[in-house]
Amino acid sequence: MGTFKAVVVEKGEGGQSVGIKDFDENDLMEGDVTVRVTHSTLNYKDGLALTGKAPVVRRFPMIPGIDFAGVVETSSHPDFKTGDAVVLNGWGTGETHLGAYGEKSRVKGDWLIPLPEGLSPEQAMAIGTAGYTAMLAVLALEKHELAPANGPAVVTGAAGGVGSVAIALLAKSGWRVIASTGRPQEADYLKGLGAAEIIDRNELSQPAKPLAKERWAAGVDSVGSQTLANVLAMTKYRGGIAACGLAGGMDLPTSVAPFILRGVTLFGIDSVMAPKTLRLEAWNRLATDLDHDTLAAMTTMIPFDRVIKAGRDILDGKVRGRVVVEIG
Ligand code: NDP
Repeated sequence: MGTFKAVVVEKGEGGQSVGIKDFDENDLMEGDVTVRVTHSTLNYKDGLALTGKAPVVRRFPMIPGIDFAGVVETSSHPDFKTGDAVVLNGWGTGETHLGAYGEKSRVKGDWLIPLPEGLSPEQAMAIGTAGYTAMLAVLALEKHELAPANGPAVVTGAAGGVGSVAIALLAKSGWRVIASTGRPQEADYLKGLGAAEIIDRNELSQPAKPLAKERWAAGVDSVGSQTLANVLAMTKYRGGIAACGLAGGMDLPTSVAPFILRGVTLFGIDSVMAPKTLRLEAWNRLATDLDHDTLAAMTTMIPFDRVIKAGRDILDGKVRGRVVVEIG
């Protein structure tokens, strides 16, 4: 047993602090699989954990990072053996369980899935929790039998991680995608991912009427608050919206009108505790449906020591698409 390099969040009298440190392997938490982490990513929640802007970290010291790809070093779990390539999303890693921004992680084997066939560890993390969440949202819409023939789909927070992958997935399935963004300068980027139309996010950020002109049959929302309320008010009869984020706020100032007068359905998307069968379904679809060039176009690679600054950038809305963090 030795030490390994990790981003460590600590809490002292002056509040929360963060830095890169040598972490003692003996201090890893309980788990039946130890993984050599090769890649992680930067999600909005990681930004909150790194900066302390929201109480995401609930144990100190904490190694943040909610997702990783890596190689099994030791395992007493029947499904995994030394050398297996694995992926982890959520389950409280980076929040209550020591997470991904370290060269090693010890977790429950039940939390891991095998690296999906056809994806490299870098590509799996280019997708990361944001992309896997976008896939969960698309699966929810499909299970409601919503299809491109019903009308367009809206994606809010379009230039962000969930938004970018959602656009690519919906466009690949044949949807006409309307991308809502506060970054009009990213119009070419969003069209490159498959968006057919770009709208200014201010159109959706004003107080929502109970019902407004019907504009889309489906949607993936990572913003919440007034934006989600407007998205619901503008959803066509019997349409559905998958809510997965709160980048614009945690509140939802809406009324029952879209639900009881237009039969609109609001799907709640949670990636953290999603059951394994659903995770495997989502990752298998991601491995086959997401075009590799499109994925590369939305991805930036950063070295390990840039992740703390990148955490501030994602909360400031300065990060486009997905960020892969090279760990090992
Ligand atoms: P990003 O920061 O990459 O994307 C968020 C995007 O939202 C931004 O790029 C921006 O898009 C838009 N945005 C930011 N602030 C505001 C605002 N004040 N008003 C309106 N729009 C805003 O984050 P992720 O894609 O990683 O995550 C998106 C959301 O989804 C987060 O809230 C995150 O916590 C949540 N999430 C939830 C998961 C779950 O399991 N439910 C899993 C993963 C993420 P643009 O510049 O185009 O306007």
